[in-house]
Amino acid sequence: MNYKNITIAGSGVLGYQIAFQSAFHGFNVTVFDINDDVLEKAKAKFKTLSEAYKKDLNATQQQIDKTHLNLNYTSDLAEAVKDADLLIEAVPENPAIKIDFYKKLAKVAPEKTIFATNSSTMLPSQFAESTGRSSKFLALHFANTIWIHNTAEIMGHATTDKKVFEDVVAFAKAIGMLALPLHKEQPGYILNSLLVPLLSAATSLLVNEVADVQTIDKTWMKATGAPLGPFAILDVVGITTAYNIDKIAADKTKDPLKIKTVAYLKEHFIDKNKLGISTGEGFYKYPNPAFRDSDFLK
Ligand code: NAD
Repeated sequence: MNYKNITIAGSGVLGYQIAFQSAFHGFNVTVFDINDDVLEKAKAKFKTLSEAYKKDLNATQQQIDKTHLNLNYTSDLAEAVKDADLLIEAVPENPAIKIDFYKKLAKVAPEKTIFATNSSTMLPSQFAESTGRSSKFLALHFANTIWIHNTAEIMGHATTDKKVFEDVVAFAKAIGMLALPLHKEQPGYILNSLLVPLLSAATSLLVNEVADVQTIDKTWMKATGAPLGPFAILDVVGITTAYNIDKIAADKTKDPLKIKTVAYLKEHFIDKNKLGISTGEGFYKYPNPAFRDSDFLK
């Protein structure tokens, strides 16, 4: 892997984190977004992120200064990719927006540029054709709060070049990620293939009145040694996300339990703005949730 220049398309929740993490690890990063106002917002977010890197990673001021020097900004796509070795796409999770973006990108990107999507719920094969370079396209999926939850799932599609895949695995390691290669396409990658069924099973147990929130979390924590139970995890992920996933499943399958779950989450959480840690309350109250009590598992 001899990447130097990395372009991040989209400076939203995930994009600006990927940009900062890559710049922190010495890559020359160009941040691309739809207009200069959005890019100004990204610059402000980088200031906040700098403090988080100092607090959470003991980053020095010198490291932070260097990181900022490695960051460039443009709202001109051709300019953004003109010398890019790798472009990481973090534009909204909407297939029409992504396809439109790849078609425009394909016209202006140099031949050498590898494209990677950070999409959480879509598969690279959905976009391979629009990229015009399917062998140089794959998924590189990060988690929110990338500097702490430093996982990178790397997932090709049927015609991704093996060397491209290996280079992206090496890049992920070079920016401090735990690189997690998948051998084939899988909706939800590894993490969400495991997590979504767990969280869904927990809400089903609750909605079916089998057990209460704390008993379900205690069971998981004590029996497996996990630091958090499924409801504590739901508070981190955000109850809105779980609600949206269940709503899609309920609309599609008409499963009575799913319909009941959606109504339950709406009545008890969404309508009351109890959305998890972000609003100070979800299944637990923050900043001192009950599962942190020293006698929670006694
Ligand atoms: P977001 O809505 O916060 O940010 C999207 C950014 O893309 C915005 O800054 C927007 O201005 C910009 N944008 C819109 N159209 C664009 C275009 N045509 N070209 C360039 N930029 C454009 O979204 P997000 O939460 O950061 O998600 C981005 C991607 O990352 C999605 O594919 C999502 O599935 C994935 N992802 C998100 C998370 C998460 O926790 N939010 C976690 C992992 C992966």
